[in-house]
Amino acid sequence: MEYRTIGNTGIKISEIAFGAEWMGEYSDEEVTQLVQYCKKQGINSLDCWMSDPDIRRKLGNAIEDDRQYWIIQGHIGSTWQNNQYVRTRDMPKVKEAFQDLLDKFKTDYMDFGMIHYVDEVKEYEEIMNGEFIEYVRQLKKENTIHHIGLSTHNADVALLAAQEEEIELILFSINPAFDIMPATEDLEVYRDSSKYTEDLNSIDPKRVELYQLCEENNTALTVMKGYDGGILFDEKESPFGVALTPVHCIAYALSRPAVKSVFAGIKTIKELDEALEYYTATDEEKDYNKVLAKSTKRSFEGQCTYCGHCAPCPVNINVAMVTKYHDLAAIQEEVPESIQEHYNNLEAHASDCIECGGCEERCPFNVEIIELMHKAEALFGK
Ligand code: SF4
Ligand code: SF4
Repeated sequence: MEYRTIGNTGIKISEIAFGAEWMGEYSDEEVTQLVQYCKKQGINSLDCWMSDPDIRRKLGNAIEDDRQYWIIQGHIGSTWQNNQYVRTRDMPKVKEAFQDLLDKFKTDYMDFGMIHYVDEVKEYEEIMNGEFIEYVRQLKKENTIHHIGLSTHNADVALLAAQEEEIELILFSINPAFDIMPATEDLEVYRDSSKYTEDLNSIDPKRVELYQLCEENNTALTVMKGYDGGILFDEKESPFGVALTPVHCIAYALSRPAVKSVFAGIKTIKELDEALEYYTATDEEKDYNKVLAKSTKRSFEGQCTYCGHCAPCPVNINVAMVTKYHDLAAIQEEVPESIQEHYNNLEAHASDCIECGGCEERCPFNVEIIELMHKAEALFGK
C-alpha cells in the first residue's frame, strides 16, 4: 500500500480506502472480518455517509479496538428518518444524526467532518452562510471533528469549496465518464447514457480547472464512484464502448492532480483483492489510456491525461509532469511561485527538449508534445 498526505493536515491516507456503503447486507462478523482484512492490506481510511444505525453500529464495532488507526470521513447532514436515509439541512436532525454517528462508532471525534452531498450551488451558498457551517465550525472548535470536508458530484460546487481555506478535503466523484460530462446539479445526468453525446470527447474544462485549483490550494480530493457503479467494466454500457478494469479505474483516479485516495465500494474480500491488484499490476495493465484510445464512441484526442505513456525521454524530461505544471500555470495570470518551484525542481526541463519526437510517437492521444515543450519553456523560462 502507498500513502499520500492530505493537504496541510499531515495525515497520510492509503491510496485505496474503504467505501463501506454495502455493509448493511452483512452480519457483524462479516463486517469485522472485512474491516480487519482492509487493515491487514494497509488500508487506513473509511468513509461513512450511511445513516442506517445498523451499518454504523457494525462498522463501529469492527473498528472499536483500532479507533486511532482509522482515518474516518464522517458525514454531517446524512440522517435516518422513518427507516430510510434522508439528506437534510434541518439542524436538530443534522445534530442528532451526527451524534448518533459518534455514538455508534464509540468515539468522540471524526477525522474529517464531511458536509454531506451538496450538489446545488444555491444550497452550497446557504450552507456556507448559515447555521449549518456554524455548527460544523463549532464541531471543529471543540475538536469533535479534526478537519472539515465536503462531498459533492458537481464540479461547480467543488470549485467553490476548493476556494475555501477551511475546507481541506473534497470527496468528489471521479472516473473517465464523469470527467467528460459538463458540471451538473443533477446526479442522474451521469447515469443517463443518452446524455453522453458524441461531442463529449475531452475532459470537461471545469473539472480540469478544479483539479488544478485543488493542487494549487493544497485541497485534497478523495474519490467516490471511481468505477461508475461498474458501468465502465461493461463495453455495452460504458459511454466509451470499451471495458475498463478496477485497476484501470484506480490508476485513472490516482493520476488526477490533487487526488489522494480512492474509496473503493467494496462488497467482498474478492472485490477488495481486485482493487489491490493495482499494486501488482504492470504498467501495461494499468494503462487505461490504451483502452480508452480504442473507444468506438469518443476519444481524448489531443488532450494530455498525465498518464506518462510517452516516457522514456532521452534527456529525462518527465513530460507528464511538465504538462501538468504547464496546465496548472497557464490558467493563472502569473505563474504561481509554488508551481515555478515544483517545475524548477524537475530533473530536466522543457528547454532541454531535443525534439526527437519519440514521445509523440508513443502518446496514445496524439498530444503535440514538442509544441507543448515550447509553450512550457516560454511560461517557465530556461
Ligand atoms: S503527452 Fe500523451 S502519453 Fe504523455 S502524459 Fe500526456 S497523454 Fe500521456
Ligand atoms: S521530443 Fe523532447 S520531450 Fe519528447 S522524448 Fe524527445 S526530447 Fe523528450
